[in-house]
Amino acid sequence: MAGKGRHFLNIPGPSPVPERVLRAMNRQIIDHRGPEFQTLGREVLEGCRTVFKTRQPVVIYPSSGTGAWESAIVNTLSPGDKVLMVETGHFATLWRQMAARWRLDVDFVPGDWRHGVDPAVIEARLVDDKAHAIKAVAVVHNETSTGVTSRVAEIRKAIDAANHPALLLVDTISSLGSVDYAHDEWGVDVTVSCSQKGLMLPPGLGFTAISEKALKASKSNGFMRSYWDWEEMLKPNAQGFFPYTPATNLLFGLKEAIDILLEEGLDQVFARHKRLAAATRAAVEAWGLEVLCKNPAEYSPVLTAVLMPPSHDADAFRKVALEKYDISLGTGLAKLAGKVFRIGHLGECNELMLMGALSGVEMGLAAAGVPHRRGGVAAALAALEQPEAANAPRKVA
Ligand code: PLP
Repeated sequence: MAGKGRHFLNIPGPSPVPERVLRAMNRQIIDHRGPEFQTLGREVLEGCRTVFKTRQPVVIYPSSGTGAWESAIVNTLSPGDKVLMVETGHFATLWRQMAARWRLDVDFVPGDWRHGVDPAVIEARLVDDKAHAIKAVAVVHNETSTGVTSRVAEIRKAIDAANHPALLLVDTISSLGSVDYAHDEWGVDVTVSCSQKGLMLPPGLGFTAISEKALKASKSNGFMRSYWDWEEMLKPNAQGFFPYTPATNLLFGLKEAIDILLEEGLDQVFARHKRLAAATRAAVEAWGLEVLCKNPAEYSPVLTAVLMPPSHDADAFRKVALEKYDISLGTGLAKLAGKVFRIGHLGECNELMLMGALSGVEMGLAAAGVPHRRGGVAAALAALEQPEAANAPRKVA
């Protein structure tokens, strides 16, 4: 087992929580119906709007991201409604399963788990749907199982080009706060997210940002719901309160996390993630390994999924890296089990933290006897030192 020093948590979420956020949460509970809470409630609800880039309501649930998915479904859709989804990977597949459990009629466009959503396919499917039977298009922005980021703005354009009224539902569970995203500008109807990735909080908060159109759809949707009901939330939220006991201390953390993101500047945060991701891919290439994502326009700034050489097990390598160097890397999910490992470089992560993690991977590959070339760490350093990387917008608080 590795000796002293800090553990490297390089899974693609939950991501490490900044000390400032930990300290902000480490305090006595307050009355969630009192004036101090009201101020906090108003601040975090407003701060979320800034991060989602919306003027519309953002609802905060004490839930994981999966709960927020369920909220998006039960508020806007009813059993029998047709939904268009795309098999970008494991999380899109889980969302489809949930939709099927709610008896939605899912048209699941097959995918190879190496590409994002093809906007042209969305447009073609919607053009074919002359009767407007499709009530919603539901996609994952950053597919955490594959390291592929879909082009949501282009998907919006495809829906508009087809002149189709379907709602656009987007999972930003592993992209919000790490990858540029604009709920209002991109005409997204429901944006689903959670706390434990780019927002740098512990797990426990789920979010839905809701467009006017989605709110209208929910009002006319007679399908059963209670805990997830937007109406029930929005009434007390207007005063900074919640209809049931909120996750008070996570909200203290959320306020601090939003402050941290805004102090650095959202554009700088997004540029930092891209820079770290590019350095990681440089390392992978130098090792002679393959990045799972096939389309450079869809490389994820959040994580890099790496294919193992044939007949080498990714989990055996991860085990060696953990035991010898105390680094947690993401496992391959579902059909990628054993075939890929994932390097998370999101949230509270900077150049030196990344270099530590990549050193752990390179030493782990050697220790596990995985065929590779040395020099990935040096290639990542060179990538970070490139003028375009150095000139990328950066603000140090
Ligand atoms: N969607 C994506 C893209 C995810 O990465 C995850 C979790 O990692 C989920 C959905 C499920 O979120 P949770 O585990 O918070 O319920």
